[in-house]
Amino acid sequence: MSTAVIQGIINVTGDCKACDHCTSICPTGAISGLLGQKHKINHNLCINCGQCLISCPFGKIEDVSRVDEVKKALANPQKYVVVQEAPAVRVALGEEFSLEPGANVKGKMHAALRRLGFNQVYDTEFAADLTIMEEGTELINRVFNALGVAGNEHSGPLPQFTSCCPAWIKYAEDQYPLVLPHLSSAKSPQQMFGAVAKTYAAERLNVDPVNMYVVSVMPCTAKKYECDRPEFIASGYKDVDVVITTRELAQLIKDAGIEFLNLPEEAADSLIGSSTGAATIFGVTGGVMEAALRTAYELLSGQSLDNVEFKAVRGLQSVREATVEIPVKSLGKTLPVNVAIVTGTKYVGKLIEDVLAGRSKYHFIEVMNCPGGCINGGGQPIRREMI
Ligand code: SF4
Ligand code: SF4
Ligand code: SF4
Repeated sequence: MSTAVIQGIINVTGDCKACDHCTSICPTGAISGLLGQKHKINHNLCINCGQCLISCPFGKIEDVSRVDEVKKALANPQKYVVVQEAPAVRVALGEEFSLEPGANVKGKMHAALRRLGFNQVYDTEFAADLTIMEEGTELINRVFNALGVAGNEHSGPLPQFTSCCPAWIKYAEDQYPLVLPHLSSAKSPQQMFGAVAKTYAAERLNVDPVNMYVVSVMPCTAKKYECDRPEFIASGYKDVDVVITTRELAQLIKDAGIEFLNLPEEAADSLIGSSTGAATIFGVTGGVMEAALRTAYELLSGQSLDNVEFKAVRGLQSVREATVEIPVKSLGKTLPVNVAIVTGTKYVGKLIEDVLAGRSKYHFIEVMNCPGGCINGGGQPIRREMI
């Protein structure tokens, strides 16, 4: 992976009230400033997670907005504009329209996206299934390599870490570059969607990919950084052109004068819209790991896996673990697979140090930056009454 730094997604505004709350929230120590002094962000350390933004009691931290670019693309008849939305968006968007947190507005959101002028409307779940297949298969190859099974020599080392949280990826690059070979090589669902849209879907829709414009609606500010990373042009075109957040989609809908609550329920488009539904749990901590593990289990045993029971360890819900016994048909034996789930990059250091020292007991580790997962991402509605 490139370590190119794209600066400045998250910034403190000029009229910061200097209350110092954000320094206690930031997982990387990127914010500096004493009580009573305007605070600033060191973008070399910042992982773009937006947790400071949604926690600032005075609303003095902002993310770079590219909503105007989306409006321009939608108004340009030369552009064929495709949108994807992540599972955590549909259960949060309603809050911007005075609905209770957790209300699922998927159908109304599809209708709103069509009325905004998007040519194709999708959930990210199809691409999330691709990520699950990739990560699950990669895990099997790494385990087989560790067991000396021929044909897996080019697989990476164990444990395998998940790779779909761009804040976690930047944290690993900045703080623990030696751990990078342990990160799954699978792209995140957002980036897989963009690549598939500009290749397979463009061909099937008879659209020149140069005219296709892919927009992501994400619960996440770090996804804005991810889509601009220079390596994400596998299709020959930028996989995802622009990311907007849940908050910014609400702004687009309001700016267009769409009466969201009166919209009918509509389904997503179908071309790259089918999915197993497994990805619905991606937005919550443990979801990515459980889905990939289930894939690995089915591929290896030919049976399906019931729910994985995770236990809290070290007294912190932020780190949980489980052991899953997987019967491996081809080897004629059962393998215990040890997995850990970390929610919050500030809790991952000890696990990484164990990995680098060769004393980790884990085979697979999921890391998501935001507390509880993407559902509480930096692009979600801001609940000021809870700050
Ligand atoms: S929490 Fe907001 S107002 Fe307080 S110091 Fe940080 S940016 Fe400034
Ligand atoms: S975006 Fe995240 S890493 Fe960056 S300053 Fe804010 S809390 Fe810290
Ligand atoms: S946990 Fe989810 S919302 Fe938070 S930074 Fe990672 S991908 Fe984005």
